[in-house]
Amino acid sequence: KGLGVSSGVAIGHARLFHVSMVDVGESILLEQNIEPEIDRFKNAVALTRVQIEELGKRVTERGENKALSEVLTMHLLLLEDRMLIDRTIELVRESRFGAEYSLSCALKEVKKRYAGLPDLFRERFKDVEDIGRRIMNNLRGAHTQSLEHLEEESIIIARDLSPTDTASMRKDKVLGFAIEAGGKTSHTAILARALEIPAIVGVHNITKFVQDDDLIILDGQSGQIILEPSEEDLDESYKKQDLYQVRQSRLVEMGKLEPVTVDGHVIDLAANIEFTSEIESINKYGAHGVGLYRTEFLFLNNISIPSEEEQYSHYKEVAEKLYPDPVIIRTLDLGGDKFAHLLDTSDEMNPFLGCRAIRFCLENLEIFKIQLRAILRASSLRNIQIMYPLLSGCSELRAANELLQSLKDELRNDGVAFDENIPIGAMIEVPSAVIMAREMAEDLSFFSIGTNDLIQYTLAVDRGNEKIAHLYQPLHPAVLRMIANVVDVGREFSIPVDVCGEMASDPVCALMLMALGIERFSMAPHGIPTIKEIVRLTQMDRLREFGKELLKVSTVQESQLLVKQYISCLFSNNLDLLENLNESTALAYN
Ligand code: PEP
Ligand code: MG
Repeated sequence: KGLGVSSGVAIGHARLFHVSMVDVGESILLEQNIEPEIDRFKNAVALTRVQIEELGKRVTERGENKALSEVLTMHLLLLEDRMLIDRTIELVRESRFGAEYSLSCALKEVKKRYAGLPDLFRERFKDVEDIGRRIMNNLRGAHTQSLEHLEEESIIIARDLSPTDTASMRKDKVLGFAIEAGGKTSHTAILARALEIPAIVGVHNITKFVQDDDLIILDGQSGQIILEPSEEDLDESYKKQDLYQVRQSRLVEMGKLEPVTVDGHVIDLAANIEFTSEIESINKYGAHGVGLYRTEFLFLNNISIPSEEEQYSHYKEVAEKLYPDPVIIRTLDLGGDKFAHLLDTSDEMNPFLGCRAIRFCLENLEIFKIQLRAILRASSLRNIQIMYPLLSGCSELRAANELLQSLKDELRNDGVAFDENIPIGAMIEVPSAVIMAREMAEDLSFFSIGTNDLIQYTLAVDRGNEKIAHLYQPLHPAVLRMIANVVDVGREFSIPVDVCGEMASDPVCALMLMALGIERFSMAPHGIPTIKEIVRLTQMDRLREFGKELLKVSTVQESQLLVKQYISCLFSNNLDLLENLNESTALAYN
């Protein structure tokens, strides 16, 4: 069992995929051989470039997800990486090592730099390693083992897969994959979801248990792998596959329905996106615009800060494609567990309490200005809104707004078109912002509650620490009351209150958020249809009455019990749905 990161059931024969960086020995070059050795290295780099470009072309021809091409583009950039390429050449020239050994030394140095970073960034080292392996293979004239040329339908089993390995997978050949390494936010997992290939990561020692051609079953939802399945297992899995297909088409159908409650309340369901390529899913699953565009993911494929032009073209593309639906662009939420390697803040003791998000932007005004200018320039269609992350109160909000104002003046003077009345929202994800919401409301057009962080900071529970995951409690009375406070302030100032954290896509939590008065949600696009279904079964006035009861409890156990009783009663004639709701981790007893 591992961590299911991309749903779907695969049944097929295993194919072990081993890619290793063979050890290379140290050798000292003669003076006259140094420059030819450097040329040999440069040729290998050039050949690698051609190979990646060809792979990129094939990916584009196959019309596959843009995320794949984006990863390959980043790999092309890595071929110019100073720490890898220039450093290798330097080692050949100054230490007189052969190209292979110099490259392996440079890679080790890069690895050391990544070693002290949080898991998310260590994942990024895989990209560098992947490029290093390709160059090494070309130096040695060896062929890169590629999943692209897989001839038979297989389930790939590996210790690890690089993003390029994943990018080169053909959906008609790779039925699924399971690897020992990886996390939910690794490139490999992101790409598996983009390609809709069932995938499991973190399966301890799987390469030791599975052999080539073994028949296996892989369930990307539960994270379970069955080796040597019985007839019974197989029957059950074929049924699961059918059910999955039915469920997928049902989701798409449900996505077309209106999110209106039984008593006529329209609920706004928008999408959270990280990449422009997700626009397709927004349409597919019936989201209304974007409620949270996590722009820091623009950094995923960059080794430096994306330019104003680059950012502008991304924002403009989303705004145009979704017009007239709204697009809420969140300004950079870098730091914490996101892309700190670019920020030089990686040695912080408590990155989640450190120089993150708006704090980083206000300390690095040049970076913030580039983004705000890009957003303003893209706003001329008037469907873009700006949202600041991690505000702790009024001063950061005012400082950001002042900067925005000065950039508006600049653009106006230059005759550049933009939305003069661009709405400004604040993410409410720090307890102090809940307390100060009333004062902040005066300078805002909307609030958006980031429950992922609000829970973490309210309960002092690291959202990424599996050891205390049971203490991360969305239905904790303190969390519920915080949310209710923001709803009250929103009503008082007549400004909308959204929820864009993961609570929005958990059916039980979404129901409880509606009970507390939330009417706007934003979530990963494929979560939308299920929430639509819940909305369409809801009687809002009764639910609101329940919300008042919910706010009276004093422990999380009490609120969980109350919610369980309520949903059992509410959905007693819809047992499938009830079963689904009861699986919510928000209801797990602590
Ligand atoms: C949140 O904190 O709830 C949120 C939506 O932002 P992120 O998950 O990007 O921190
Ligand atoms: Mg957050």
